[in-house]
Amino acid sequence: MPPLDQSPASALAVAVSPRLAGTVHGFMGRAGGVSVGRYATFNLARWVGDASPAVAKNWRRWRAAYPRLTLATVAQVHGATIHRVGRDWNDRRPEGDGMVTAEAGVALGVFTADCAPILLADLAHGVIGALHAGWRGTLANIAGAGVRAMIEIGARPESIRAAIGPAIGQCCFEVDAELADRFAREIDGAASCARPGRPGKAYLDLGALNQMLLARAGLEPQAIDEVGPCTRCAHDRYFSRRAASGASTGLQLSFIALRASTDRAS
Ligand SMILES: [Zn+2]
Repeated sequence: MPPLDQSPASALAVAVSPRLAGTVHGFMGRAGGVSVGRYATFNLARWVGDASPAVAKNWRRWRAAYPRLTLATVAQVHGATIHRVGRDWNDRRPEGDGMVTAEAGVALGVFTADCAPILLADLAHGVIGALHAGWRGTLANIAGAGVRAMIEIGARPESIRAAIGPAIGQCCFEVDAELADRFAREIDGAASCARPGRPGKAYLDLGALNQMLLARAGLEPQAIDEVGPCTRCAHDRYFSRRAASGASTGLQLSFIALRASTDRAS
């Protein structure tokens, strides 16, 4: 039998937001795993070319750190489809870029490497959500779709809190000026979230765009938090597709769960 992996869960890097206090949540970084090279070290994605035994070992470490959680994920496609996760979800992994649930103990997880992970919670009504928002998802207003899906299962926008996790910052998110123009045309106010770059280029602020879209969906501006550094600047701590010049990299997991009633007191 292979030796048990007994490395302490404390070696994992996880950022949290005070806005989501009362939930079990985290924006995992790349520290604390066993993957190597572009996947070093805490890659949990099985489909990016990393060695399976390393990914499996990383998963054991995550499960050891969060033994009470069952994780639901989707096959992310840069769209704005939100799935409702129930007890019968099991190991489904349908295409989509967001999930909502009212089930305690079910963690909703999204994978990113520069795209913005967005975690949401309405603790007053016991509803959470997790979204993957790259530029395509942002343009498709996945933030608004996620809030609507939460409202459909009982949340109220004024009691939803949100945290946008580590993602590529405006400092590093250079796009074609044409794309910035498209944002400005399709999203009212988006022009304020872009600044000019080199000729024909612009810098987009993905975090600010999603903050704006969340506020427009009904969240109080002060209920929205941004957590973590620019993933490209901090590529030693976070996976960044751009820092890898577009090559396949590991992906970081961001997740959120409602506490089961038995541990709500803690
Ligand atoms: Zn940066």
